[in-house]
Amino acid sequence: MPELRRHYFLEEYCIIASERSKRPSDFPVARAVPGDEKTCPFCPGNEEMTPASVAVYTDKGVLSLGPERVPGWQLRVFPNVFAAMVSSPMPATPEWIALPGHGHHEVIVDSPLHRENPADFSLGHLEHLLLVYRDRYVHYSNLDEVKYISIFKNWGKEAGASLSHSHSQIITLPILPPLMKREQEAILQSSFCPFCNIVERERTSCRLIAEDEHWLLIAPFYSLAPYETWILPKRHLCNLAEIKELERKSLAVLIKKVLGSLRSLLDDPPYNFMIFQQPFGYHLNIRIQTAVSKIAGFEKNTGIYINSVPPEQAAAELSELCKSTISPKG
Ligand SMILES: [Zn+2]
Ligand SMILES: [Zn+2]
Repeated sequence: MPELRRHYFLEEYCIIASERSKRPSDFPVARAVPGDEKTCPFCPGNEEMTPASVAVYTDKGVLSLGPERVPGWQLRVFPNVFAAMVSSPMPATPEWIALPGHGHHEVIVDSPLHRENPADFSLGHLEHLLLVYRDRYVHYSNLDEVKYISIFKNWGKEAGASLSHSHSQIITLPILPPLMKREQEAILQSSFCPFCNIVERERTSCRLIAEDEHWLLIAPFYSLAPYETWILPKRHLCNLAEIKELERKSLAVLIKKVLGSLRSLLDDPPYNFMIFQQPFGYHLNIRIQTAVSKIAGFEKNTGIYINSVPPEQAAAELSELCKSTISPKG
């Protein structure tokens, strides 16, 4: 029987349709041919094909407002040409409200190598990427008009990546998104943090995939997508700016493990990697949702996702692979 599962602490549901339970091989990925390095705006040497960088990171550190061509960059940040946010809204009418879509949209080219798979990033490079996420988060959280900072990575065409060269994105909003608002309200109204509670309970559940001293990797009870995973800090941290160096190092290890395991299990699936964080009153978490099943009429009609892989099965398969993926020295 399909199970209607409730979100951990919100009035949200998903359906775990275990009788349609699928194996990893049931999710074939239509592979896009990677674009050409010569015409790729994210490749080193093609910097003039994008807007000017706002930050360029090399092994020696960050060069803010650096020149367009910095040899040997590891990561590069620039405004998105096709920004999702614009500054001039439609005038409001009595019927409809259009708020100024005032926001920022940035691209982080997170590898200088055209065909590098994020699962192959070195631990040092992943730590560097986490530092860039932190820097940009801190930068935007100091701006009054910014109410939310969305940091995410789409990997694979089906997950929304328009270019095959690995990159992350940052979009800021002048409002708090409803889901985040409701999660934060639930935390503030509760006598304990519901996420701390998830950490405590899932540590001993069959949905635990891996853990270390600082972090927990689980297939959440409330899983919207096949093989969805969440990474949660054991300490009650609100955002990436509060992470200590050791915690960042161990987070990089866990990210490498989960990306490597997903790649082996599902043959390099498309996915969305999303950071959920707030300046205060929240519990940082990272959610990785595969884009291997279609969002169709039922989901759009009800807001309820059907997931054909029980998270308990996903955790069992992923935890086996995590054990063998890498040693902490990777
Ligand atoms: Zn490229
Ligand atoms: Zn907490």
